[in-house]
Amino acid sequence: MSRKVLVLGEVRDGSLRNVSFEAIAAAKTISEGGEVVGVALGSDVSGFGESLIQYGADRVVTVAHPSLAQYTSDGFSQALLGVIDSEKPEGIVLGHTALGKDLAPRIAGKLDSGLVSDVTSLEETGGNLVFTRPIYSGKAFEKKIITDGLVFVTIRPNNIDALEKDGGRTGDISSLDVDIKDLRTIIKDVVRKASEGVDLSEAKVIIAGGRGVKSEEGFEPLKELADVLGGAVGASRGACDADYCDYSLQIGQTGKVVTPDLYIACGISGAIQHLAGMSNSKVIVAINKDPEANIFKVADYGIVGDLFEVVPLLTEEFRKLKVGSN
Ligand SMILES: Cc1cc2nc3c(=O)[nH]c(=O)nc-3n(C[C@H](O)[C@H](O)[C@H](O)COP(=O)(O)OP(=O)(O)OC[C@H]3O[C@@H](n4cnc5c(N)ncnc54)[C@H](O)[C@@H]3O)c2cc1C
Repeated sequence: MSRKVLVLGEVRDGSLRNVSFEAIAAAKTISEGGEVVGVALGSDVSGFGESLIQYGADRVVTVAHPSLAQYTSDGFSQALLGVIDSEKPEGIVLGHTALGKDLAPRIAGKLDSGLVSDVTSLEETGGNLVFTRPIYSGKAFEKKIITDGLVFVTIRPNNIDALEKDGGRTGDISSLDVDIKDLRTIIKDVVRKASEGVDLSEAKVIIAGGRGVKSEEGFEPLKELADVLGGAVGASRGACDADYCDYSLQIGQTGKVVTPDLYIACGISGAIQHLAGMSNSKVIVAINKDPEANIFKVADYGIVGDLFEVVPLLTEEFRKLKVGSN
């Protein structure tokens, strides 16, 4: 059954987040040959429509309004509901990001619709669209089908491959006027703590440090390795609690959930609450002095050793490989 599917393009720091392109790929599967319509919301949406089309959207609807300069639940839900009312889609896809986690349930509630959140894969089997999502902090997976109404999902970043960008792809970009009013909150300012470098939740490579790094300075070798690999630095709660780094780097049950291609855990014991945030990473490398550390149970490659010796060696070797390939 072909469907019209809306995809919200999520903007951060003036650029579309990669998860928006992954959402388009998911929407293509959900649409089953129907139309995929990108949606761009903001105070200035110029340029976003073209990008969404180059990554596979058939056309794009934009809503530009001064109240959409920063994300608010009120403003964005009014704008997105306006687009939904005008387009009458049969499916909606958002990223399972801080924004998506806030906005999607609100929209689903307003539409009296179901919602499958945190989807890591989807497939068409026996005439049904089957959505897979992790449960119990990643210890199990459930498969869900939607039996009635809107196919409304949020997808976990870094799990569904975006389509190849096609710079020559064109499509209609239209603007919609939505009356956005009675906002109960207004963002006056956004102060970011860890804004430098690669966004942790979308990073393809993460070098994470635990209590084993021993100090704030102990993170320096990890940052160097992350720089060489074009990755981001993350941390266990142990490292955050010890004040070696900011809580914005925390990965785990009460931190960020990440699924990079490569996760290098340095001096992290592998507590269940940490594994909840990273065990679905594609390749896990653990560096720990203790051969009995729990982290080795989920690691694809384990290095028993002192991280202060191993990490600089890895950095040196990766640097050589990089120079060799240039
Ligand atoms: C409700 C709740 C929620 C929680 N949420 C989270 C969460 O979101 N994320 C999270 O991470 N934790 C979370 N925790 C905490 C979790 O239980 C652990 O306490 C924490 O993950 C431990 O951090 P760690 O592995 O860095 O420290 P430790 O457990 O102290 O491990 C340090 C490791 O470093 C190794 N090491 C030491 N020196 C070196 C060296 N030089 N080279 C190599 N290895 C070395 C040691 O062998 C050890 O394995 C939560 C706990 C609770 C109760």
